[in-house]
Parts: sequence; C-alpha cells; structure tokens
Amino acid sequence: MSNSTYQTCSCCVMDTSDEDIVFDEKGVCQRCNEYQQRILRWWNYGKGHEQDLNKLIGDIKKSGEGKKYDCILGLSGGLDSTYLLHLAVAEWGLRPFVFHVDAGWNLPVAERNIQRICDKLNIELHIEKLDFEDMRQMQLAFFQTGHAGLDAPQDHAFIAQVDMFSEKLGVKYILNGYNICTEIIANPASWNKGAGPTADKTYIKDVLKKHGGYKTKSFVYTTGFRHKFWLPYVKGVKTVTPLNYVPFTKQKIIDTLMGEYGYEPYKQKHFEDLLTKFLEGWWLPKRFGYDIRKAQLSSLVVTGQMTRQEALEILSKPSLTDEEAKDLFCQVATKLEISEEELMSYYTLPKQFVRYRNNNWAFNLGIKIYTILGLDKRIRK
Ligand SMILES: [Zn+2]
Repeated sequence: MSNSTYQTCSCCVMDTSDEDIVFDEKGVCQRCNEYQQRILRWWNYGKGHEQDLNKLIGDIKKSGEGKKYDCILGLSGGLDSTYLLHLAVAEWGLRPFVFHVDAGWNLPVAERNIQRICDKLNIELHIEKLDFEDMRQMQLAFFQTGHAGLDAPQDHAFIAQVDMFSEKLGVKYILNGYNICTEIIANPASWNKGAGPTADKTYIKDVLKKHGGYKTKSFVYTTGFRHKFWLPYVKGVKTVTPLNYVPFTKQKIIDTLMGEYGYEPYKQKHFEDLLTKFLEGWWLPKRFGYDIRKAQLSSLVVTGQMTRQEALEILSKPSLTDEEAKDLFCQVATKLEISEEELMSYYTLPKQFVRYRNNNWAFNLGIKIYTILGLDKRIRK
C-alpha cells in the first residue's frame, strides 16, 4: 500500500517510511497485529519453554559426543551473540566452536568485549581475518549500486563462514542469536529495495561484475541453495535460536554481561562496527529516511520493555551528532582509500533500484518449507 500522508502506528513506532506498512481501523500496523496473534501466544516472553530448551540442549550434546565441538557460534561482539555465548557455556554446558569474522571494520570496543568474555569463559576464539582489499573493493562496488543494503559484503562473509565451518567440522547445530525479545519487529523489506538476498553468491558477484569487475582473491562465498537447502535439509545442520526459550529483557542482558565480563554496551545496536555505525547511524536515515531505530525500538515497545512515548523521545534526536557523523564520514572514506568527495558522490547517486541477478527462489523455497512446518517464528515483511 502506498501512503502519501505520514502516519505512525498507534502501538509501535513504525511508520510510513515503510511504504508497505498497512494499518487497521485503529491505526495499528500489521506487524503489531501479527505479533499479538501469532508470535506472543507461542513465545510468551520466553516463559514456559523449559522442556523444549532442555530437549534442545540434550540433543546438541548428544550430537557432539566424541567430537571436540557440539555446536557453532559466530560472535560479533553485539549484545545478542555475546549473551547467547554466556548462556551456552556458563549455563548450559555446551562446547561451541566460537568464531569471529574480522572484516576490517571492527571498532576497538567490540574487540575488547569479545576478548573479555572469551578469556573469562576460557574459550579458544577463532578469528577469521578477511582480506581487506577484497572487502574494500566489494564495499566500493556496493556503494555504486545506489541501494540501501550496503552491508551485504560483511553479512555475506559471516553467513558463508558459518556454512563453511558447519560442513568442515561436521557440527549439526548452529546457535543463532536471533530473538523475539529485541528483534521481532524486523527491518521492512521496502527498506532494502532492489537488493538481492545477502547470502547469495550470484547477487554479490553480479554487483561486482557490474561495478568495476573486481575479482575477489580469497573471499569465501556461499549460495542460497547451500545455505537454505543443502545444509539444513540434506546435511541436517540445524540453525537454532535458543534465546527464544528463555525469559530476559535487553536491560537484563546488559546487566549480566557488564557484571560478569565487564562488557561495554554500545550506544545503538550494531554500533560495534565502524561501517555499520556509519550506515545505520547516518547514511540510511539521511539518504533514504530509513531510521533503523524505529524497528529496534518498536521491538522493545511491543514486548513491553519501553513505552511508545519513550521510543518517540529517542527518535526525536538523531543517532549521531553532526560532529560524530562528520568524523565517521572521514574515517570511512580513509579506510576505503577514496576521497571524501568520492564518498559523497555515492551519497548523492540517484535512488534507482536496479535489480541484479540472484537466486531468490532458493530462499523463498527454504522459507516456505519453514512456514509449512510451522518453524518460522519471525515476522517477514
Ligand atoms: Zn505497529
């Protein structure tokens, strides 16, 4: 539905910056309604899932008998994956293979957080340091698309590493930090118009081909087929989201991680990464009017962790001050080895949503199977 007049949901803080948003007669958006009707009944704030959780932990342990690891966990340094690592090791006694993908954009605070928890839990951390020339060239190609989904190279790298490790190590469980509590209101698909599926080699390669023709040296790719079909249905690798089986709040995560590991929280979700901080804190809201905090805060509002008024108050101020934004702009240009004028030329590109080749069918098939099996606990829009 296309809206010419501005409207905000009367329940959360999503608004017509999502051009597909649909309001009911009470002015409540479709996500809030779907949350009430489909998600909350099952999730119940993480309460009452003890049996499911115990069974899952038992299954993971059993699958890892005689092996060095019983699961895989990718640690970004963000709240969710860090809390999941804490629960997995300190509370559930799992033996995850813990890895971190260093795409060259980590802020020092993220590295401190990752090191602290791994040291205290006595975990051997595997750091995959990606070739920065590959990352830089891929990033430049994505800037030239004019699209909003500019984190695709980093996101793809992460997914591809998870896929690679799960096959290489023969581990049957991937622990994923996705959680209803802080993420149920997802970024709308309309905020990523034109972009192909992140975990799709065909899409990434077509962007590279059409913008500069760079050939990656050592970048590890995955495909939609491998990620959504081959690994889960043929190899039996399960991606599980156990944070949905435990009751917590965002504040409780912060308190636990600060108290146990001296964790330093970030000002905003994903602000552990220089590029993502720049994109989500400045580029997306300024160039496209997509303030990612609307989805993040809406998740906290609908799950009762914040009032709508408090969320609106936060949104009334920009994520970054002009000075912070200017500083980040300069840092990103420097890391990309381009002038600030060149970076600005991508900022002022016309907003045309060119489509690139992709294998979307594999994703849609995977999601369809999940939905038929009743396994999809997300709101996909
Ligand atoms: Zn809503």
